[in-house]
Amino acid sequence: MSSTNSEPPTPNCRLRAAIRDIPDFPKPGIGFKDITPVLGNGPLFHEAVRQMAEVCKKEHIAKIAAVEARGFIFGAAMASLLEIGFVPIRKKGKLPFRTRGTQYSLEYGFAEIESHEDAFLPNERVCIVDDVLATGGTASAAVRLVLESGADVVLLQCFIELSALNGRAALAPLPVSSLLQF
Ligand code: AMP
Repeated sequence: MSSTNSEPPTPNCRLRAAIRDIPDFPKPGIGFKDITPVLGNGPLFHEAVRQMAEVCKKEHIAKIAAVEARGFIFGAAMASLLEIGFVPIRKKGKLPFRTRGTQYSLEYGFAEIESHEDAFLPNERVCIVDDVLATGGTASAAVRLVLESGADVVLLQCFIELSALNGRAALAPLPVSSLLQF
C-alpha cells in the first residue's frame, strides 16, 4: 500500500476539501467559493481561525479590521482568540457613530465603506481580514480607510486567495497571507 494514501490528511487538506464550489453564482461565469461547510464544522473552523490568528501573533498585531459580511466571521473569531480589538468596516450608512469613508469601484459603479472615526489609535498595528481575496478591490479600499485613520496596516489576511485574479499584486507592497490558494 502506498504510504501517501495511508497518511491521515493534514488539517489544510481537510479545509481545502470542505470548500464547496458553486458554479455561476451570483452570476454566470463566477465560481463562488462557499465556506459554509467549514463554518459548520467546529474543529475545521477552529483550525482555520487558529492558524490565521497565529500569523497575527507573529506580527504583533494590536487590532483586526474586517469588511462585512464574511470578513467578520473570521476577523471577529481571530480577535477574540487573540484577546485584541475588532473593528467592523461596513457598507455606507450602517454604523451609528461618526464615520470616515472611502469609495471604491465595482464592476458597475461605486461602493463606499466606512469605519467609526475613533476605531483606531495612531500607529496601531492593524491586520485586515477577509474570507476571499479575489481582485483585491475591497481589500485595497479597506487598507486606504485604515491608513487614513492614522493606523498602520501591517498585513492582509484571507482564508482563501484566488491567485489568478492577482489581488496580491493589487495590494503590493502590503504583505498578504492566505491559508488556502486556488
Ligand atoms: P475582490 O474585491 O474582487 O477582492 O472581492 C473580494 C470580496 O468579494 C470578498 O469580500 C469576497 O467575500 C467576495 N468574493 C469575490 N470573489 C469571490 C468568490 N469567487 N467566491 C466567494 N466570494 C468571493
